[in-house]
Amino acid sequence: ETTDITTLLLSRIRDVADYPEPGVMFKDITPLLADPAAFTALTDAFAEIAERTGATKVVGLEARGFILGAPVAVRAGLGFIPVRKAGKLPGATLGQAYDLEYGSAEIEVHAEDLAAGDRVLIVDDVLATGGTAEASIQLIHRAGAQVAGVAVLMELGFLAGRPRLEAALGGAPLESL
Ligand code: AMP
Repeated sequence: ETTDITTLLLSRIRDVADYPEPGVMFKDITPLLADPAAFTALTDAFAEIAERTGATKVVGLEARGFILGAPVAVRAGLGFIPVRKAGKLPGATLGQAYDLEYGSAEIEVHAEDLAAGDRVLIVDDVLATGGTAEASIQLIHRAGAQVAGVAVLMELGFLAGRPRLEAALGGAPLESL
């Protein structure tokens, strides 16, 4: 069954060479989103991870983590919380800066959305360097909440996001389909 899901999901991810810049192989999930069988299989697999890890909330990382995470939250009966690029959320926020190859970036969450006692499943499409997910883990911890795990559709192993995240996760699982 695992193999069937993997084959289905892989068949719906399009590799786009040299996008958005030369040397990058972009993983385009829009064919998967357009296929209800594949999107449903992905949502069910992520919802099972949410249930297995005892998550009480789902955090989606802007922007494709919103598309993938929102139906997971509904399916698992949990609230959905957007982690956004800085300057997009209207209320009181907690922010976390992190380094990029050139320069830095910052993500934010509404402070009222996370509290002590929450167990958060972080959802995104691609784990690359792990910088975004690592900053999200730090943000969730600073809010006093726990991280139940990180769930991604795929990881780019050569960028070593997994060892970086495992250090930040402290035993919570990183699940990549
Ligand atoms: P990182 O912080 O390096 O792990 O980058 C993760 C974010 O960048 C994710 O939100 C991904 O959606 C996006 N990303 C990075 N590399 C790729 C890629 N090759 N294809 C598609 N999305 C990517």
